[in-house]
Amino acid sequence: MVTRVEIDHRLNRPRHPEKQARPDQKVLRKPDWIRVRAPNSPVYFETRALMRAHDLATVCEEAACPNIGECWSQRHATMMILGDICTRACAFCNVATGLPAAVDASEPARLADAVARLALRHVVITSVDRDDLADGGAHHFARVIAAVRAATPDTTIEVLTPDFLRKPGAAETLADAAPDVFNHNLETVPRLYPTIRPGARYYQSLRLLDRVKTLNPALFTKSGLMVGLGETRAELTQVMDDLRVAGVDFLTVGQYLQPTPKHAAVARFLPPEEFADIAAQARAKGFLLVAASPLTRSSYHADQDFLALREARRAATPATQAALAPVSA
Ligand code: SF4
Repeated sequence: MVTRVEIDHRLNRPRHPEKQARPDQKVLRKPDWIRVRAPNSPVYFETRALMRAHDLATVCEEAACPNIGECWSQRHATMMILGDICTRACAFCNVATGLPAAVDASEPARLADAVARLALRHVVITSVDRDDLADGGAHHFARVIAAVRAATPDTTIEVLTPDFLRKPGAAETLADAAPDVFNHNLETVPRLYPTIRPGARYYQSLRLLDRVKTLNPALFTKSGLMVGLGETRAELTQVMDDLRVAGVDFLTVGQYLQPTPKHAAVARFLPPEEFADIAAQARAKGFLLVAASPLTRSSYHADQDFLALREARRAATPATQAALAPVSA
């Protein structure tokens, strides 16, 4: 059998060296409701050219996101800071892994300039895991947030961060930097962490969300889950309850898609009706906002969702706000 070895087109070396020894996993055929159109709009190509001109990485490309045609056609790109090499090797993720390069001090200014040129009213900024850095990259996130605030004060800022495992002070740094939305994805249920997120700890991720919210209650917190990895509905329910206890405002739920045969296999494709049912359940638990569909990703429609989130907080009466408050608060 010929094993497919994915080569990073820019670096001309294996993209996932740690995954090459793994046995191939069967790739299931995608159902009709997962299909997306190939990108071909002029704005898509303009967005791509701007990212290249500013030497910026995006998770849209690095993670091979299926929504790239739609998002980039609306100038909505999720920028990935701290390089494009990750120190973890999560079984679901298509970002290249290895030893990252030094942090580029010019990145905050380049990114802020791209945000201004794209005239973004809302920007989503994420990063690779940087376990090699003493602060996990927290101060670089803060510098990027400050640069965007200075260049385009009206742009609202959403960060999607790593877990900062064993990086004391990172939550405080992010809470002080005061993005409009602090997002950290739990990704899956705790039982699947050893196989899907082996370098992470479920309760560390939960604690990070709780800590940032406690330090800065004015910002919105957000978290995302992939489904179709073999989790049960009871496990999903438990994760929703945990997120509410941590005071998380916004939950996203999307179908896991397998990037290559070396990545974790899809256990099943959930039909759209099941996503609607999950969304209804999550709303009943008191999240301010829930997005759940096969193609939902943390940053999908993030600009419109941010407006809805702000409106939902505004509309909540004091009694509702008290009911929405985390149980531990
Ligand atoms: S959903 Fe997010 S990661 Fe995917 S293309 Fe859109 S902005 Fe990029």
